[in-house]
Amino acid sequence: MKAVVLYGPGNVAVGDLPLKDLAAGEVRVKVAYCGICGSDHHKVSGKKNTRPVTYPVALGHEISGVVAEVGEGVTEFKPGDRVTVDPNWGCGKCEFCKDGKKSFCKNSRGVVKGMAEYINAPVENVYHIPEKLSLRDAALAEPLACCLRGADLLGVRHGERVALVGLGAIGTIMIQLIKSAGAGEIVVIEYDETKEALAKELGADVFICSKDEEKITEYAAKYNVDKVIECVGNTGAQLSALSVAGRGATVVMFGVADSAKTTPISLYDAFIKELTIKTSYVNPYTTERAVRVLASGMLDTSKIIHRELTMEEAAEEFMNPQLSRFGKLLVKID
Ligand SMILES: [Zn+2]
Ligand SMILES: [Zn+2]
Repeated sequence: MKAVVLYGPGNVAVGDLPLKDLAAGEVRVKVAYCGICGSDHHKVSGKKNTRPVTYPVALGHEISGVVAEVGEGVTEFKPGDRVTVDPNWGCGKCEFCKDGKKSFCKNSRGVVKGMAEYINAPVENVYHIPEKLSLRDAALAEPLACCLRGADLLGVRHGERVALVGLGAIGTIMIQLIKSAGAGEIVVIEYDETKEALAKELGADVFICSKDEEKITEYAAKYNVDKVIECVGNTGAQLSALSVAGRGATVVMFGVADSAKTTPISLYDAFIKELTIKTSYVNPYTTERAVRVLASGMLDTSKIIHRELTMEEAAEEFMNPQLSRFGKLLVKID
C-alpha cells in the first residue's frame, strides 16, 4: 500500500509498504486524513522519541477514516463506520494500566502508522465519530486529546489570568480550550509577531512578541498570571513561560522538549513565586472527550488546520519544512 515512509533519519519518501494481515480483535481502517505532528519531525530528524523507531515505517499517528474490515471477535464496528484511532495502546495488565495510568504502560506501543492507505488497530483504540463531525476535523482528535490532558493539568478556573506561550498548531487548540474553560484574561507570547491578529481572533487579550523579553517581565510585574501553558518545547519558550508566571502560578510545560538539551532555570525564582511546574504526557483516557469537543463545534477548526497536503507534498514537507510552523497540516490519503 501507498504510504509516506521514513526509511531512516532524514530520509522520507512516498513508497510502498506491505499491508499486514488483520488479526483477531483488530479493525482495519481506510485512512482519510492524517495530521502532521511535531513528533513526526522529531522522528525524521532522528531525535529521541517516546518509543524506539524501526525502519521503514509510515509516519503519522493522528488519523480519521472509515472501517474497511473487522477481525475475528470484533462486534463494536462494521465496514463503513467512521472512526478515529488513539495511537497509544496499553496492555491493561501491567501495574500502571491496573492503576489507571495506561500512558505509562510497560508494554505500550504505537498502533497507528497513519500516513498510509490502511492501518490495523486494536479495537480498544478505535472510536466512533458522530455523523455531524467531518472526517477532516476528526483527524484533530489525537492532538486535541493530548491538549485535553494538558488543559486538565493546567486546571483553569473562571476568571483567571492565563498565559499561553507559542501559537503553533497546538497553541491554536489550547487557546480555545483555555477560553472555553473560562479564562478571564489571556496573554499570548509568540515568536512570530505576524500571528498577533490570529491570537486576537482566538481570544487573546494581550499579545507579546517573545523576542521582546523586557515586555514579558514588565507584564509579569504588573499583572499576576495564574496559569501558564508552554506549547513550543524549546529553551526560549520554557524560560518565557517561567518568567511570565505569577505568584502561586501553575506552569504546564506542554511542548515536547529536545532530549539532547537542558534548560537552566532559577529554582530561587520558582521558590519566591511558589510555582507548580508540571509536564503533560500523551493522552490517557481523553480521546472520548476529544471526539465530543470536536462534535460540539466548540473549537473553530478553520483556525487550527492550516492546509491539506497530498502524500507527495507531505514527504517534501518533511525533507524541507516550510509550512509546519503556521498551524496543523493534514495529509489527505488517496
Ligand atoms: Zn500528535
Ligand atoms: Zn500496561
